[in-house]
Amino acid sequence: MDSAQFREAAHSAIDEIIQYYDTIADRPVLPSISPGYLKPLIPNGPPQDGEDWPTIQKDIDSIIKPGLTHWQSPKFMAFFPCNSSYPGMLGELYSGAFNAAAFNWICSPATTELETVVMDWIAKLLGLPECYLSDGEGGGIIQGTASEVVLTAVVAARERLIRRILEREGFGDEESEEKIDRAAELRGKMVALGGEHAHSSTQKAAIIAGTRFRTVPAPRSTGFSVTGSALRQKIEECKAKGLLPFYFTVTIGSTATCAVDNLEELAAVARENPDIWFHVDAAYAGSALICPENQGLCPPLSDFDSFNFNLHKWLLVNFDCSAFFIKKRKDLIDTYSITPTYLRNQFTESGLVTDYRDWQIPLGRRFRSLKVWFVLRTYGVNGLRAFIRNHVKLGEYFNGLLDQRKDIFTVVTPARFALTTFHINPQYLVSPTIGSSPANKADPSHEAYLNDFTNSADAQYREDANQITKQVYEKVNEKGEFFLTGTVVC
Ligand code: PLP
Repeated sequence: MDSAQFREAAHSAIDEIIQYYDTIADRPVLPSISPGYLKPLIPNGPPQDGEDWPTIQKDIDSIIKPGLTHWQSPKFMAFFPCNSSYPGMLGELYSGAFNAAAFNWICSPATTELETVVMDWIAKLLGLPECYLSDGEGGGIIQGTASEVVLTAVVAARERLIRRILEREGFGDEESEEKIDRAAELRGKMVALGGEHAHSSTQKAAIIAGTRFRTVPAPRSTGFSVTGSALRQKIEECKAKGLLPFYFTVTIGSTATCAVDNLEELAAVARENPDIWFHVDAAYAGSALICPENQGLCPPLSDFDSFNFNLHKWLLVNFDCSAFFIKKRKDLIDTYSITPTYLRNQFTESGLVTDYRDWQIPLGRRFRSLKVWFVLRTYGVNGLRAFIRNHVKLGEYFNGLLDQRKDIFTVVTPARFALTTFHINPQYLVSPTIGSSPANKADPSHEAYLNDFTNSADAQYREDANQITKQVYEKVNEKGEFFLTGTVVC
């Protein structure tokens, strides 16, 4: 494809993308195809001779679109939002055009320096404590996903504790068999902790890091939040068994209910346990911190080691874009900086530049800060705050609608950061008065029946509620027009 053909193809692709967005609300969210639909539609191998763009582009319509789930549709209500925007797409376009691996500063100085600048902008926008800014000992890096960030933190936490223990035991800088054996022995005792409702990425990171994983209870009685005493108890239990707790995920906005752990209490536990790395995962809800009314959550963050949120979830930056802020960048660099001769260069050795490869697991990295920069500049702080506040207001409106039909719905956790969780009342569907007139609902025997169910806290009631709620959302999803997801909390 030469530049003239690229110009024509790009214009045509952009026109199609605009048309897709302009009509997205009219499409069913879920595709109506069966598993394996695609393979019979395309040849068994690539063409021997190249095809022209119009031939390729027409397959978007005939082969790809029928199999898409439309995440950008207003009728998509499953999982979590994964917003996109036109400025975000332009950022992706330029990133693709400049295409660089950009692992060291010299690999593409603008890629590194813009990332440092926009991450400081973001930290200030969220009202994060100053320790997370790049002009002190901390700073921010963009990684792909929250799971990648959590893994990066877990492995760095494991290695930080091993380094500290080896130093306390008098091992020097030289590698010796004895030192390596002792480190391996310590690794065998390490345990990562996460709240009962922390995202599964913590457990996955522990598996990859080769450590144990234990959950800290976050029961209904605390609003599904981890308290300081629950964490203390778990730490003590681990230590009593000779284990070494080294990491804990604090959650702001849990996946199932958007619960926020008790940050003040957990900050006190962090101060008591400086050997445990406290990472704050605010993957979804973190975007809401751009509004000053939510920034009351931020002060305790100065007692934690790191923080992340996904701009690709709720801040109009196209997937993927997870912001990872670290209080002491040295804690990452001490684990991830390995410099074979082919990566050496005068700029790295000057100590004046950031080499983001030392803050992450992969070597190469994408120019993600461009799309963040474009989004921040296009919408401005006020535009982004208005966007978040509108969603929060819609969440509260939805909660209000559920409250108007308490005969059908029970709100399990009220609107928080635009998420309301609810279940269908089992008695409504099993009752002979389904869809009945209000007169029937006023029937005193029916009232008693309802109350009996509503007041019942037994496991059977919850089981019924879960079953019926699942049946209802599966019915909704079967039609394909909307897409909902459910969860089970105990
Ligand atoms: N953390 C929380 C609280 C989440 O809700 C999610 C996803 O829903 C994740 C982490 C994982 O996000 P990612 O897909 O960016 O790894």
